[in-house]
Amino acid sequence: MSKGLPKRSEDYSLWYNELVKRADLAENSAVRGCMVIKPYGYSIWEKMQAQLDKMFKETGHSNAYFPLFIPKSFLSKEASHVEGFAKECAVVTHYRLKNSDDGKSVIVDPDAKLEEELIVRPTSETVIWSTYKNWIQSYRDLPLLVNQWANVVRWEMRTRLFLRTTEFLWQEGHTAHATRQEAIDETVQMLNVYATFAETFMALPVVKGVKSANERFAGAEDTYCIEAMMQDGKALQAGTSHFLGQNFAKAFDVKFATKEGGLEHVWGTSWGVSTRLMGALIMAHSDDNGLVLPPKLAPIQVVIVPIYKTDEEFDKIANKANEITKKLLTKGVSVHFDKRDTHKPGWKFAEYELKGVPLRIAMGPRDLENNTIEVARRDTLSKETVDLAQIQIEDYVTEMLDKIQETIYQKAFDFRKEMTTEVNTWDEFLDKIESKGGFLSAHWDGTSETEEKIKELTKATIRCIPLDQNEEQGNCILTGNPSSGRVLFARAY
Ligand code: AMP
Repeated sequence: MSKGLPKRSEDYSLWYNELVKRADLAENSAVRGCMVIKPYGYSIWEKMQAQLDKMFKETGHSNAYFPLFIPKSFLSKEASHVEGFAKECAVVTHYRLKNSDDGKSVIVDPDAKLEEELIVRPTSETVIWSTYKNWIQSYRDLPLLVNQWANVVRWEMRTRLFLRTTEFLWQEGHTAHATRQEAIDETVQMLNVYATFAETFMALPVVKGVKSANERFAGAEDTYCIEAMMQDGKALQAGTSHFLGQNFAKAFDVKFATKEGGLEHVWGTSWGVSTRLMGALIMAHSDDNGLVLPPKLAPIQVVIVPIYKTDEEFDKIANKANEITKKLLTKGVSVHFDKRDTHKPGWKFAEYELKGVPLRIAMGPRDLENNTIEVARRDTLSKETVDLAQIQIEDYVTEMLDKIQETIYQKAFDFRKEMTTEVNTWDEFLDKIESKGGFLSAHWDGTSETEEKIKELTKATIRCIPLDQNEEQGNCILTGNPSSGRVLFARAY
């Protein structure tokens, strides 16, 4: 095993990048900002996908697929949408290459210019609403509850593996409704689905809130979000759910005949989470030894490492390991018996620590004699010797996995609590943002100018106006103007 990871306390950013690479999650590719997601990283993403997909279906949504390319004219139909995305669009202008005259290279064939340029989707509202026009005629066609799993491209200038890439994988839900209230309810429902997923599966506490106008999705009336706190005191937007009003219905002329015989524009929502969640998972829980994965998303939940000298010893341990594996499988626990003879146990221990496997079981000749195993927890790095005669291994392991899931969540929850500070004066704001970071809960006068000014002065942005908070009158932290409630500021990824 190569030398240890950089320490979080010394260089958090280097620690993150190295961890992503060394734990075999992802790597940079030939195209700047685009990443290769490696099998181990992808298997975590697949677990996230499977769970989210289940939750979307349980709330009545079906999957569909829409094209990667969007005619340029479509994007322009919703004015604020195009304005928001124009700066980061990849545009296809030609459809053919040819050999250069000297035959030494390949060039774009100028005769193969597209009549209408195509945008590689940065998000699919336009292509989807142009399709919905044909699918929706009457109130009987509503609600329309569709999700798509896809890749999108946003030409980001500053990229970082998983957190912000030029091409990323995500899901985007696009729903259409007969009433404003029904669309708002859907927006909130999906925000709650995201929050439940983050907290229950990722062990990641999140703040649910609404974005300020500055941070709102281009084309939405309201953007709801979940915000999480990373270990370096920076916030991360982990998911968004948009109430689109009738904006896209108007842009694409999507109307429906109401029950009462009228004709009205449809109400819309869209919502998405991306491979950024992988970045959130890594940054929120991992330590200087490597990944710490919550059991509910760990591709391997338990690894069994044999410690032996002779073939005979190995055979006996393998038999015992098989017995344990069978019992764990009855409870749906994913187990891996690492029988490689090319690596020493110590090397394997370090590797599984790096990869975040929640539980490690080691078995040596003495354990065979005593009918024991050594169990090591990844989250606390604690070890104990367990007498197999005293327990049901499958119950012991499932209880332990639940405990680990809970402990990881609680640790992140306590950390976020410690990193959330109420501030009441501008000096306090400046002091805390520099010395501590984290979420600063402060009064704001509600104007974009003040928000911009605070960003310019401190690099802190309004992460959200939290949904669950008491009403409180106060004065804006910067201008002193009246404020009707606190908002959460933070420096963010
Ligand atoms: P949006 O469509 O802008 O609301 O974004 C939907 C989801 O994708 C949000 O959860 C964002 O955090 C995430 N996201 C936005 N841009 C990127 C990016 N460049 N890389 C990874 N995830 C992103």
